[in-house]
Amino acid sequence: MNKKEINASHTPLYREAGFNLKNSQRTKEAFAAEINHPHEPDDYIYSRYRNPTVVAVEKQIMELEGSKWALLVETGMAAIDLAVSIFQKGKETRPWLFFHEIYGGSNSFIDSVLIKRRNLDVHRFYAPKGQYDLAELERMLIAIKPEFIYFEAVSNPMLIVADVKKILNLAKKYQTKIIVDNTFGTPELWKPLLDGATLVIHSATKYLSGHGNITAGVLCGNDMDLLKEAIEYRKWAGHFLSPDDAYRLGTQLKTFPLRFQKHCQNAMAIAEYLEQHPKIEYVLYPGLKSHPTHQEAVDLFGDKGFGGMVTFDIKGNSEEEKREKCNAFVAALEDHIPLVPTLGEADSILLPVEPVWGAKYPLPGVIRLSVGIENVDTLKIWIGNALKQL
Ligand code: PLP
Repeated sequence: MNKKEINASHTPLYREAGFNLKNSQRTKEAFAAEINHPHEPDDYIYSRYRNPTVVAVEKQIMELEGSKWALLVETGMAAIDLAVSIFQKGKETRPWLFFHEIYGGSNSFIDSVLIKRRNLDVHRFYAPKGQYDLAELERMLIAIKPEFIYFEAVSNPMLIVADVKKILNLAKKYQTKIIVDNTFGTPELWKPLLDGATLVIHSATKYLSGHGNITAGVLCGNDMDLLKEAIEYRKWAGHFLSPDDAYRLGTQLKTFPLRFQKHCQNAMAIAEYLEQHPKIEYVLYPGLKSHPTHQEAVDLFGDKGFGGMVTFDIKGNSEEEKREKCNAFVAALEDHIPLVPTLGEADSILLPVEPVWGAKYPLPGVIRLSVGIENVDTLKIWIGNALKQL
């Protein structure tokens, strides 16, 4: 029985590991197409190659991101591996340039996999005072001639917004490709491929799935030659999103735009609330005029919002006092806003910065808040009550 016969209105969940190819002739043609098709063949052979439930969700993401193709994988890290590995070509591999203000796991991937195990010529572009010096970036592009620049439009956890238009212009001038991790920005705020980026990755574990119950990643692009490379790498490196997870992701994606708008509205309201609170030292939120890259955020996102993440510092007279207050604040919120090391869920969650990023950010009073889609007044009451107890 197929979907049409039972009048199903959703793409069914196909759990098959392999598909029924019926006869030798069809088998021969299907395997030949895997090699000879210029981009992506239509036939389903084996789920690690391609699965109809997964393909249906890839189409949803293509629409969101405005891309010609999207490939789902099992984690955001797998999407990063897929994005960069297609440019690895033995001795002909050119240098790669990564911004340093990216997710800590991405920096660990660079150190542990790309440098330590693959011995690749990888360079870092630093933002020493929380802002990128694009004249320095230009010098690096001239000196290194990298194959690609990799960055996050909104960085984690300090929420630095890159001057993306200038970076894209520099990349064009020096014929360097651009890979954007758009997990924090999401296609609701910015669609990098429409502005000339080469590839976009997401940890779909975060806002795209949005409920903290799926681990997934996706790579999107417009270049069809890169699609062929990416399909090949995904298939043989064994990156694959299970059809069950893809099915649930497809359902949860339908509310993503609505959810993300609410995340942005709530985050703006909470950032403003915290900024005027006497027990808060400073708030980092790209939507606030006080944020060092507020102008970049306005230029890039216009009036669409500024994301769902707010980072703030609790006041204290010494490092020890800040640490104690930070711990007390976390404990006071335990029943409402738990400490969970992820982000982008419907429920608000928080993460103290020092225990996770202490080596890079030794900031004992700083908390990264992933603002959920709860009633904003309730959120203010929870946070206000916790601050009152300090
Ligand atoms: N990119 C960003 C910005 C992230 O925050 C994360 C995880 O936190 C990842 C990528 C990795 O995603 P995953 O945990 O789904 O592998």
